[in-house]
Amino acid sequence: MEYSHIIVRYGELTLKSGNRNQFLKKLTKNIRYNLQGLKGFHVQTKHDRMYIHLDNNDDVVEIMNRLKRVPGIHNFSPVLRAPLDIEEAKKAVDNLLKTKLDKEYTFKIQTKRPNKNFTHNTNELNNIFGSHVLVNYKNLKVNVKQPDFIINVEVRSEGIFIFTDFIKGTGGFPVNTSSKALLLLSGGIDSPVAAHMLQVKGVEVEMVHFQSPPFTSADALQKIFDLTIKLSEVVGKIKLHVVNFTKLQTEIVKCVPSNYTMTSTRRFMLRIAEEVAKREGCLALATGESLGQVASQTLESMNCINNVTNMPILRPLLSMDKVDIIKIAKDIETLEISNLPFEDCCTIFTPKAPKTKPRLEKIVAYESRDDYSELIDDTLTSIETYIFDKNGCVIEQDMKEIAEKKEQKEDFSDLL
Ligand code: ATP
Ligand code: MG
Repeated sequence: MEYSHIIVRYGELTLKSGNRNQFLKKLTKNIRYNLQGLKGFHVQTKHDRMYIHLDNNDDVVEIMNRLKRVPGIHNFSPVLRAPLDIEEAKKAVDNLLKTKLDKEYTFKIQTKRPNKNFTHNTNELNNIFGSHVLVNYKNLKVNVKQPDFIINVEVRSEGIFIFTDFIKGTGGFPVNTSSKALLLLSGGIDSPVAAHMLQVKGVEVEMVHFQSPPFTSADALQKIFDLTIKLSEVVGKIKLHVVNFTKLQTEIVKCVPSNYTMTSTRRFMLRIAEEVAKREGCLALATGESLGQVASQTLESMNCINNVTNMPILRPLLSMDKVDIIKIAKDIETLEISNLPFEDCCTIFTPKAPKTKPRLEKIVAYESRDDYSELIDDTLTSIETYIFDKNGCVIEQDMKEIAEKKEQKEDFSDLL
């Protein structure tokens, strides 16, 4: 059987009527981007749905596999289109049923008729197509309550569409229709999934990663690159900032009691991340934390960590179970990369008994024993920025320049 089109439905998008056109433009662009390299189709965007016209069915399976991953698509159906003519539509039904000849099945006909000018009403159409199938296919019986499959008949001004399947898409909003957030990307399972969840909601995600060479290896950094490349497949490009955290982290380990180093490390990560976020115009930070019994992921701990920044911290996985997070990681193909063994800076410096319920006044007191400002500035200057797309690194950009620009800010002190 040869499908003539794939109908793509937007779902959640319908709620956002004000931004609709902009959303549809982005979605169309994004679908084209995701279908790059495939042949035999062209995309036509309409107000309430999109038609992917298929010139042939050579790449149809791959087209559908890719559509499943594009945010902003609610569901889609491969369809056969007939002209507005009952006999032609029956031929399309016959074509569709070629895959249903192997054994006995139950079915029902479900008709929709947005084209109110069509000569037959919904009931008549159900009867016409129902009898056509019953007369011509002895292996098919009607079951209205629990059929094995449904033959959908949609009569629109563009023609009569015949199909059986609604294939679930990712849902959410088209990529980059919302503002930017800066996500703290570790080599673990969670933060890449957190990035995906935000991307699906239309948030443009930039990444920041903290490494501590020589304690962390080049392989560990390569893993971060690979995760970023994987996450850029659907959205196009992703910016990644790599922070050299060695000096700051070793200073923390020296100055803060060991059961508080984890909390303090996270606080310094957020301080640095906040600076990067401000420079890059990100409106929020994001992490892969979820509420659990690990030291850094209790409410007490989050309270101590959040205290260093006024920026909102998005935690899309907060209340999710690990099994569900792992399932998503598998679907978006980050799990295999995350499971590689190379250690992250946090793992290497993890104390034996980190505080699960750290106290804010204590951590503030420990950190005030030392002046970290110069180290923070050095760390900010050492940041390296990369832009990745699905083929690998696009550009590398030195943050030094940006740090210098910041220093040249105007001084208003004499006006105060
Ligand atoms: P993940 O699987 O994302 O590493 P996790 O369950 O291992 O999460 P933690 O190691 O406690 O949890 O990290 C919590 C969050 O802190 C991570 O999800 C990530 O957002 C951030 N984070 C941890 N280590 C780093 C790092 N080296 N660079 C950037 N962010 C980090
Ligand atoms: Mg981790």
